[in-house]
Amino acid sequence: MRIAPVTDADLDALSALLIETVAANGSVGFMHPLAEADAHAFWTQALASASRGERIVLGAWRDEKLVGTATLALAMAPSQPHRAELTKVMTAKSSRGAGVGAALVAALEQSARDHAKSLLTLDAAVIEGATAFYQRLGYRSAGDIPDYAYKPLGGLGATRVFWKSLDAPMRATSPAVDPAIDERWMRRALELAQRAMSEDNEIPVGAVIVSPDGEAVGEGWNRNIAEHDPSAHAEIVAMRRAGQALDNHRLVGCTLYVTLEPCVMCAGALVHARVARVVYAAADPKTGAAGSVFDTLISERHNHRVAVEGGLLADEAGTMLRDFFRSRR
Ligand SMILES: [Zn+2]
Repeated sequence: MRIAPVTDADLDALSALLIETVAANGSVGFMHPLAEADAHAFWTQALASASRGERIVLGAWRDEKLVGTATLALAMAPSQPHRAELTKVMTAKSSRGAGVGAALVAALEQSARDHAKSLLTLDAAVIEGATAFYQRLGYRSAGDIPDYAYKPLGGLGATRVFWKSLDAPMRATSPAVDPAIDERWMRRALELAQRAMSEDNEIPVGAVIVSPDGEAVGEGWNRNIAEHDPSAHAEIVAMRRAGQALDNHRLVGCTLYVTLEPCVMCAGALVHARVARVVYAAADPKTGAAGSVFDTLISERHNHRVAVEGGLLADEAGTMLRDFFRSRR
């Protein structure tokens, strides 16, 4: 895949991508059906703005075909020289799930750093895929605004406001990250969640603590009902076992993989344990404490900072939870 700034030669391909995105109900500011002339006019203006240095418009090409685009708006109020806004992130339907969007966002983050920008903001329609995408890339939710915009195919929808600090110390101190290893451990956590449901008829949440050496040192799933223990969440069970395995109440350098965004109780325990990194699957819009409802896990007021990533295998974890609650109704 090639990523580079777009030029006037790309106007037709950009217009086609915008029309396709709007037709698929993608919230990028337009209503369906979007006329080709209007799409063309939008991009003509955007490229003129880019040539004035007000924005950066990147394209992603695979086999010389434009498969994605994303924009970084640089021109902000004089009081916000350090801020830039991510906007118009689009991936061709044929290239979804191929990492095009993540590669474009990463390239724009680098451009932002090159322009001495330290704070990125964006808003995204509250749709499972879109919001999980930004959470996975380390963007933090500032909350939802209901009835923010009409969706291209009609009906008002909520928008989630996201932000990311590019010079946060969290990244530098977090362990080396390998997406394949993350996925392997999250699949293990999903197996444990399955056991919570099938063996104990408990809410399917599973957790694994992995040591800095890459060994699983504690596993757990929800055991509240079975053990008459309000604190027996999967994360706490896994942390207790890890503490015993390591002969230490501190789990320094360890990573927790959990299938649901931790609650306030677990988030507090993770900070106490000095866990280095938390990777969770499904966000929890009711009690999540990694930014969805509370910021306990990501609060900068703690002495210890935990690196947090959300959204990995979120669909699988979310489906399991939904199926469980549906079966109990
Ligand atoms: Zn919990």
